[in-house]
Amino acid sequence: MPMEPVAPMSEEEARAAADADSRQLLSAATVEEALTVLVEVARRLTRAHQATVVLTPAPGRTRGASVTSLSRAYEVWGGYAVPSAGGRARRERRAATRGAEPRGRLAVALPSNAGVLYLFDREVGDFSHEDEVALSRLARLAGLALESARLLREEQQARTEAEDAEHRAAFLSDASRLLASSSLDPKVTLDTLARLSVPVMADWCFVDIIDEGGAVQRTSVAHADARDAPLALRVREFPPGPEGSIHPTTRVARHAESLLVDDVDDAWLHRVSVSEAHYQTMREVGFHGIMSVPLVARGRSLGALTFLAVRPSRHYSQADLETAQDLARRAALFLDNARLYREARRSVLLRDEFLAVASHELKTPLTPLQLRLQWLRQQTPKDRPYLPTSLVLSQLDVVQRQVDKLSGLVHGLLDVSRMSSGRLSLHREDVDLEVLAREVKTRLALAASQAGSEVSLTTHGDVKGHWDRCRLEQVLTHLLANALKYGAGQPVRLELEDAGDDVVVRVEDAGIGIAREYQSHIFERFGRAVSERHYGGLGLGLYVTRQIVEAHGGTIQVASEPEKGSHFEVTLPRREST
Ligand code: ADP
Repeated sequence: MPMEPVAPMSEEEARAAADADSRQLLSAATVEEALTVLVEVARRLTRAHQATVVLTPAPGRTRGASVTSLSRAYEVWGGYAVPSAGGRARRERRAATRGAEPRGRLAVALPSNAGVLYLFDREVGDFSHEDEVALSRLARLAGLALESARLLREEQQARTEAEDAEHRAAFLSDASRLLASSSLDPKVTLDTLARLSVPVMADWCFVDIIDEGGAVQRTSVAHADARDAPLALRVREFPPGPEGSIHPTTRVARHAESLLVDDVDDAWLHRVSVSEAHYQTMREVGFHGIMSVPLVARGRSLGALTFLAVRPSRHYSQADLETAQDLARRAALFLDNARLYREARRSVLLRDEFLAVASHELKTPLTPLQLRLQWLRQQTPKDRPYLPTSLVLSQLDVVQRQVDKLSGLVHGLLDVSRMSSGRLSLHREDVDLEVLAREVKTRLALAASQAGSEVSLTTHGDVKGHWDRCRLEQVLTHLLANALKYGAGQPVRLELEDAGDDVVVRVEDAGIGIAREYQSHIFERFGRAVSERHYGGLGLGLYVTRQIVEAHGGTIQVASEPEKGSHFEVTLPRREST
């Protein structure tokens, strides 16, 4: 389509037009606007079909930008000379423009090496010297316009950054207030924290916590868009990965390393998804940015705090990551305090329970003891100096048994107090564990028959080692006595096995078993899994057992299921490690 003929202007008209152009150019508020005005004016001044500006890419400058303005006949040249145009795009364009190659060209550099203004294809004749002079003036003005637009942008950016920083600081202070004033129930607080983070910091926020058993649990999920509630259920139920998993937030929790990805794409989702369902869920959430930080307190990772960016305008920067890390540190401190508080309360409860059980246990032998002594006194009138020997002896037997029981209890307590202060010394000698086990079994024969349980002893291979005989006797006695006490009258198996440098002791019963949540506590001081009403005991036997085993460099483990029975396994290195 030919251009309209331009009527010649008077000098005054030309100056007025040039002034108007300058004003328009200099009043541009953005770089993009200045470029648009520039190409439009340049094209008009020179009567070219096309004008293009290519900006020099430079650090700190937004990007190499190109603006093209065309007469409609040359629309196919849109984006001409964009340096980053891909090979395929260029080829397609060349094919489309065959036969419309530009005829003349004029290039004028913008000041300060900012870029180049190109004009193509004059409507009438060639580009002239006057065109070049007019364009040089325009280019100088454009330099000024671009510079002022750039300054304006920097100022705006600085303002936005300051506002962002202010938002982050306000968010952190809100969150800190919440953490400081919240109840000690971590679940409630973490839920509130996640809700507080949305939408200030994220479109989605979730918290993953490493539980006591070492598994990662997703405890809180918050989302900005209320319509996402059904999806949130899936995100919440979606199990974080097991140990060694590629699951992103699980990795953050386990390795205590932060994660920041601001350009999440399909390839990334594929790389970190643990299953097709996981991949689909993440795709549905539709986030393009993720920031996940570990909850670390006293050098230990307690979980991860994760923020997702769905809104296109939300981008995560290093500054956001630092805010998130700061928040995570405070949240971890809170979690750690809550845990310490729970443990302190548990210790107090355990101690109270222990005192109740201990006084009961100590009192039990005292009653028969008192009764026998009373009886002996009554039976000893002043005029009959002697009682029949057999009678006295039988009473003394009872007295002796109760005194033994008491002294056993007191010894046990002393042992525990010695062990708690780390004073367990071993007297090692050569020990044949099979011989020792047989002795223990014989000593507990009465208890076994009272419990109605049969004890079988099996030995595989050589089970000799260099150990403290008395202490190992205690270990075998505790384990076997427990198996009889909690074994519900079922058979008990004691097995010894040669395992190279170690000897393994197994004690198995088919009794009441131990619920999973108690299994890690039973080796603690006063740790008990049964009510004191049904079973006596101070909850010290397994604590003492573990101390002895560990002093020998060994380990003790339990596998158990309620109503099915328990299986204790002790591994003892034959020799002291050097
Ligand atoms: P206690 O004197 O209470 O038996 P222990 O330290 O020996 O103390 O054991 C701690 C707790 O572990 C017990 O209170 C009991 O709940 C549980 N326990 C120990 N051995 C067994 C077993 N063989 N079967 C079931 N529970 C057991």
